[in-house]
Amino acid sequence: MRLKRLKLAGFKSFVDPTELRIEQGLTGIVGPNGCGKSNLLEALRWTMGESSPKSMRGGGMEDVIFAGTDARPSRDFAEVSILAERQEGDQPEGSTIPFESEVEVVRRIERGAGSAYRVNGRDVRAKDVALLFADAATGAHSPALVSQGKIGAVVSAKPTERRQMLEEAAGIAGLHVRRKDAEQK
Ligand code: ATP
Ligand code: MG
Repeated sequence: MRLKRLKLAGFKSFVDPTELRIEQGLTGIVGPNGCGKSNLLEALRWTMGESSPKSMRGGGMEDVIFAGTDARPSRDFAEVSILAERQEGDQPEGSTIPFESEVEVVRRIERGAGSAYRVNGRDVRAKDVALLFADAATGAHSPALVSQGKIGAVVSAKPTERRQMLEEAAGIAGLHVRRKDAEQK
């Protein structure tokens, strides 16, 4: 799966509709402190199904909605769309979302009404979206999305902790559990 475009409206500091094209290769986002760089990463994670307000640096789920400033009133909803390109092998087993070469995932939250997901225009459940991203090295909890502060945590971690992080990133953490299990038999 390759991400091609991110669209935001009313999400955190991105109150006005904003569209970002993601080209092939490495994408860098630069700007002064507080301009919204981390908010963009959170928009990706949120749309992929993040359900923990804490990992979105908020107290409640509705904290992702533009809260207003001195100059502008708050909004009643936030909406983020991810456009991605899929390859034939991308279809996770058991997925309820039919394979199409391009997929648009939209998540929208309204004050007092909760959030909802759409994939290529059809209403889907949160778990359908989670499954769609699960096998694609993307997803809300993917080691491919590294939050601010995490690099520092890797540098200052004890060697055993660092090994655990690397094993999680490499997707082999589960092997140790199974090996221990086998040794005890
Ligand atoms: P740094 O370089 O310091 O890491 P950054 O570019 O990553 O900065 P972000 O943390 O993405 O910046 O953006 C922080 C800004 O987003 C703050 O100004 C904060 O007030 C604003 N913000 C966060 N949530 C909301 C919200 N719900 N409504 C309005 N503004 C918000
Ligand atoms: Mg930041």
